[in-house]
Amino acid sequence: KVRVRFAPSPTGYLHIGGARTALFNWLFAKKHNGTLILRIEDTDAERLIDDSVQQILDSLKWLKINWDEGPEKGGDFGPYFQSQRQGFYTRAAQTLIQEKRAYHCFCRGEEIEEERQKQRQEGKPFRYSGKCRNLSEEEVKERLDQGQPSVIRLKVPERGQVIVQDIIRGTVSFELGQFDDFIIMKSNGTAAYNFACVVDDHAMEISHVIRAEEHLSNTPKQHLIYDALGYEIPSFAHLSMILAPDRSKLSKRHGATSVGEFQEMGCLPEALVNYLTLLGWAPTGEQSELISPDQTIPAFALEKVSKTAAVYDVQKLIWLNGQYMTTCDLDSLTLQAIPFFIQAGLITPREAEDKQDYIRDVVNTVRERVRTLRELVEASRYFFQDIVAYDEKGREKYFVKQENVADLLAKGRACLATLDGFDVARVESAYRQLMKELEIKGGTLIHPTRLALTGQTVSPGLFDVMALLGKKKCLERLEKAVD
Ligand code: GLU
Repeated sequence: KVRVRFAPSPTGYLHIGGARTALFNWLFAKKHNGTLILRIEDTDAERLIDDSVQQILDSLKWLKINWDEGPEKGGDFGPYFQSQRQGFYTRAAQTLIQEKRAYHCFCRGEEIEEERQKQRQEGKPFRYSGKCRNLSEEEVKERLDQGQPSVIRLKVPERGQVIVQDIIRGTVSFELGQFDDFIIMKSNGTAAYNFACVVDDHAMEISHVIRAEEHLSNTPKQHLIYDALGYEIPSFAHLSMILAPDRSKLSKRHGATSVGEFQEMGCLPEALVNYLTLLGWAPTGEQSELISPDQTIPAFALEKVSKTAAVYDVQKLIWLNGQYMTTCDLDSLTLQAIPFFIQAGLITPREAEDKQDYIRDVVNTVRERVRTLRELVEASRYFFQDIVAYDEKGREKYFVKQENVADLLAKGRACLATLDGFDVARVESAYRQLMKELEIKGGTLIHPTRLALTGQTVSPGLFDVMALLGKKKCLERLEKAVD
């Protein structure tokens, strides 16, 4: 039975690396009719950020990466917050102490620091000496009774290798010599990350650990913990890194990297999911780069996930988003656009309801020319607001330099004024008729009209714009332009 987990630490927003990990876990679970567990790794109280859990949940929900067990869902393997699972860790640590696989270490910070300095002078990487390994039971008891602070360390064999079988990377071996008796329980009684992770993955019956490559170096330590506890080791798959375009580590300075930022930019969740899929997954055969989870799931296999680092390319994401903007369901796009219209002050929440049809028509007219919801709103301004300023170059070219433009626009206005119906076909035929009568080329009338109606030199088809604006606004704006 496939059980996978996404285990974010609530130390900030969900960024694209985390979202990709969540997505690949979800795809794998879907493929195998398995279960996706969401576990919040919040043991490191100092690094926690308020609201972060909610942000992460919201981002996952927005992407429609739905978990089966975890916060808000519950499940038989809870609690799903590590901060509430202290009992599991304490019990497991006690078992290891009893079985002499782990021991209390009373060395104080200064002593460890001294050791570290000494080893550094000898040019060696730091390894704890194991000084407390052989304390007698009596001595340990006495010191604990005295209330001396201690950590718990795992006994790590000095020689040998840990072999990690990674589904994506193959066999990776680690020399035991590079590990010391590492800490599994901190002096404040909380579990170290590797320990909590193993105890939970076992208790939650996780079958496959799918996570970021940066955790590969933790995996041998976790193997040692599994062995010590006598637990069966799950399968592991480490997803390759996501690098910035200059192949450095991806960070804030590379622009938007959190899911929330993409949402605010006006990305569609389907486009972002598509983009995240391509960060490690290559569509097979005939499929283009536009792929939905429905297409990915049947083919999804961890063995086929890329071993090489993925390079993050925001331009590609925006391009993909544009593709989705053009082709997705119009009603759904309209619903998603409405908060952006409201936020930009183009409509009130009340108008969002009253003018739904109009908004939908605007969205439909503009969507092919824009790549994000934000761009959509910007490109739709003149459908909701009067024109306060004309494009400067356009004004110069059409209103100032073009001959007889005032006369021309007045004629255009007069021609429109006679119309009864104002649909695209009628408006177009009336305008074309006029151009014919005046014996002028299309652009001579169309360009200044466009500028008068939209304030811009580019727009969707002029007759679509006219029909949508309606007769009254068209006449008003043409009149204002000739003033
Ligand atoms: N809490 C870890 C992180 O946020 C994930 C650990 C894991 O997946 O094992 O990176």
